This record gives sequence, structure tokens and C-alpha cells, in this order.
Amino acid sequence: MSVSLRQLSYNELSRLIFKWRDADRASLLSFLVALEIGMHWLWCGFVWWQRESVGVFVNLQLLYIAWLFVSCSLLFFLWLSRHFLTITENDTRLNFWQIALVSVYSLYIGFEILIIGHSSLVSGVSLVGGAMLGMMLARRRYIWLAFLAQIALIVIVNIIPYMGMDLPSLREMHLAHDGVIHSHNYQTYNEAVTIENAIASAIYHNGTIPLNDGHELHRNSALFWRSTHMYLALPKAIFIVYVFRILLLILDTSKREILSYANQDELTGLNNRRHGLGQMRETLMNMNDQHDYSVVLFDLDWFKNINDDYGHEVGDKVLKEVAEILDNAFTDSQIISRYGGEEFLIVLPETGHYTAMTIAEQLRADIAKHNIYINPIHSFQVSASFGLYTLTHGERTRLIDEYMKIMYQQKYQDDLMHSGAKVYRQARETQSVNELYQAFDESKKMQISSDICQRLISIADKALYKAKDRGRNQVVSANELLAEGKIMEVSHAPTQQWGQMP
Ligand code: GH3
Ligand code: MG
Ligand code: MG
Repeated sequence: MSVSLRQLSYNELSRLIFKWRDADRASLLSFLVALEIGMHWLWCGFVWWQRESVGVFVNLQLLYIAWLFVSCSLLFFLWLSRHFLTITENDTRLNFWQIALVSVYSLYIGFEILIIGHSSLVSGVSLVGGAMLGMMLARRRYIWLAFLAQIALIVIVNIIPYMGMDLPSLREMHLAHDGVIHSHNYQTYNEAVTIENAIASAIYHNGTIPLNDGHELHRNSALFWRSTHMYLALPKAIFIVYVFRILLLILDTSKREILSYANQDELTGLNNRRHGLGQMRETLMNMNDQHDYSVVLFDLDWFKNINDDYGHEVGDKVLKEVAEILDNAFTDSQIISRYGGEEFLIVLPETGHYTAMTIAEQLRADIAKHNIYINPIHSFQVSASFGLYTLTHGERTRLIDEYMKIMYQQKYQDDLMHSGAKVYRQARETQSVNELYQAFDESKKMQISSDICQRLISIADKALYKAKDRGRNQVVSANELLAEGKIMEVSHAPTQQWGQMP
């Protein structure tokens, strides 16, 4: 894979960086470094070309040395960018050349920091941005070491001038046509400008330099160096933020992918059992205390026979087509899940018994009349048996009341002064069950809704098995069975100790 500018586009890069081999990424890094150095090369070329006008602001001897160094580095990184492509995975040369890349680039940036000024915009961007970009594209350990080395260099560069050593600086300060004061590397850009200002104004006041000359020289020098710093730093800063944006896009995309893998059933694309139950707990927890809540569990009839008669693949096709019927029937896909092999769960929050029965009946009819084609001519139909249970809002309040009594008793069981039942009675005198429930913290509410969730599913399951008993392909209401005493409600005690009350 070779690196091209086209691949630096937002979506392309985010897609590629993830898939690329380590050597490809190192190649891209090398290419980006070459682009950066290419810009520096152009700057050197510009100063040389315009040396008549801007040469007075620059130490030209140092510039020529820098230009040579820049040219060699440019050729090296261009060559390295190609060379990485010849390296295969698990090749020991990969580590060697990554170390070479990071070392030469560190040397390069070190030199740049030295001659441009360690406190300039350029060195700030190079230090932080370069490290960020490097971490994405090369071995992080090498980049981290290079980053620390550069920090050490900055500390050294800060100290050296105070030990009497002069560091080379590209910048020259001009006061008059023939006067040159070398600026020092330990001066920040702002300090240098301030000194220029002070000297220019002092000279102006003494009358030894005409106002326009002093002012003009200072203005031009500042303008030139300010533009230089912007030219060297801003494109790099923009590019690094751009790459960081790509990194975030990659993170978003992978988070979405991971979540969908974790929550989705692979075959049907519906929510899987775990996510379906999670959604159910969530909706139960936030359920409006004025509404009923229905749950439907259905299971395909004689599904084993379909597998036996037509093969497992046709069985899978049936599951997918039933999932499609479900998907088309409901706008909110969060309420449907594949509960087991050929068993599906539908949660209908804020839906009363009559409406839920109508929905389930419609769904049963839709599945029963749907043709499943095993080839263009032959088709068959499947049916499903449904169990439905509606938790009325009154029943929900009664259940929560029951749970809370037990929780208060558990909380006060070791308290000799108070009885849990009494404390709960007193609390109930001023607040409704729902108000007390809403005041609980999220984890306790989640425990209650988890218990109620289990209870609802087990009741709906009983109705589903009644539907199987009664000949399949029908909807059976658990509420009716309970009313007729044909099934018994399971008594659910809280599953565990509830801990501290709010
Ligand atoms: P009933 O009407 O009593 O529900 O009969 P049934 O044959 O549907 O019930 P049973 O539980 O005996 O069979 C369920 C079958 O579903 C058994 C299993 O092989 C099949 N099954 C479960 N998951 C899948 C799947 O992902 N793909 C296919 N093709 N078959 C599956
Ligand atoms: Mg079945
Ligand atoms: Mg089954």
C-alpha cells in the first residue's frame, strides 16, 4: 500500500488508519514529516531568494547550514516513506527504521527548537502536536521517549545561556541599516520584540536614528518573523487537530460497532436477549405510574420440524423473515428482541391489555399468512404461539409497595428502637408509594425493576405454554388465566439484601 495525498481525506484516513499494517502507518508518518520538512525547505528557499530584503533579519550563514540539513532530512524521510512499504509485518527492520524515523525527526525538531527559539509557537506545536500524531502512527514507546528527550532539550536550552554559552539563533535584530544585534535563544519571541521596541524608542528619543528608520526596521523584522512563525506552526497545528478529529471519528465508529455487536443478535439483527431485558428494565424503571405495561412472548410452532424437514439454513431464513415482520410492525425497534432460539420478546410500555391483545393478534395473523419460499415455486407457512401479560398501573404500585415494605424491614432488622414496618407506615402517611419509589437511588430502582421484569416474563411464559397446550397459533392472555385461577402467580421476594436506604 502506498501513501498518497488522496488518502489524507477525512473519511478515507479514518478508514485506513485502522486497517493499515504498522509499516504502512510508519510510512504515512514519514510522508507527513517529509511534507512538513518540505515547507521548511520552501521557507529557506524564499529567504535565500529574497535575501536582499529579508536577509537582514536572518543569520544567513546559519540559514545555509540549516538549509543543507533540511534538504538531507527531506530526502531521508521521502526515501523512508517508500522504504517502509518494503517491510513486512514481524520484520525486525520495522523496529529499527521506526527508531531511525523517531531519532532523526527528534534531532531535526531539536535543531529547529534551537535555532528558532524554544518558546516560540513553532516549538510548542512541534512538541505537543508531533507527539500526538506520532503516537497514532508509530510505536508509542519510541514517541514517548523522544518526547521526553525534547522536554530535556528545552530545559537544557533554557539553562545554557546562563552558563555563559551562546546558542545559535536564526533571528537577527536590526536597529539601523548597518547595525546588527544578535538576539539570544533564551529570549522569547515577545522578549525580543520588547527589546527591539525599547531600543528603537530610546534611539528615537536621543535623536540618533530618524523615527521612520527605527520604527520601520523594527516593524519589518517583527512582521517577517511573526509571519515565519505562523507559516511554520499553523499548518501543522491545523493538520494535527484535523488528525485528532479523525481519531475521534475512529473512536466513535468503533464504539458504535462494539455496542451493536454487544447488543445485537447476529442472525436477525434484532436486539439480543441481554439488551432486550436491559431495555425492559429501563422502561419499567421509568414507567409512568398512570399507565399499564404489557409484555408479549411468542415462540414459533413446530420449529424443530422445519429444521428437520428443510434444513438448518431454511430454519435461519424463517427466523430472519419473522424478524422482518416484527421490524415492519413496530417503529421503535428497541422494544423487540430475540429472546431465545425461536422465541421473541416484545415490550409494550404504556399499553393497556386490550390494545396489546389486538397488536399480538395482528402479529400472529401476519406471521401465519406469510409465505416462506424455499425456491421460486415452493413455499410454506409458519405459525407462532403467544403469551401476553399486562401489568396494570394499580398492580405495579401494589408490587412496589410490597417490595418497599420488605426493604424497610431489612434495613431496620437490627434496629431495636425502630421497626421497619412502622417506619414505612409513617413514611406512607405523608408520601405516595410512587413518590417514595422515585426518591430511591438508581441502583435500587433498577433492582426492583429487574425483579418485576423477571416476574412479568415468567407469567407471560406460562400463558405462552398454555397457548401451546391449546393447539398453538393463538394468543393467550395471562391476565385472563390469572383471573380464572388457571395459573398461579409466582411470589417474588427481593433477590438480595437491599442495603442502605436513601
Ligand atoms: P413447539 O411448537 O413446542 O415450540 O415446538 P418446537 O419444535 O418449535 O420447539 P423446540 O424447542 O423443540 O425446538 C426449537 C428448535 O429451534 C430447536 C433448535 O434446533 C432450533 N433453533 C434454535 N435456534 C436456532 C437457530 O438459530 N437457527 C435454526 N435454524 N434453528 C434454531
Ligand atoms: Mg417452538
Ligand atoms: Mg422454543
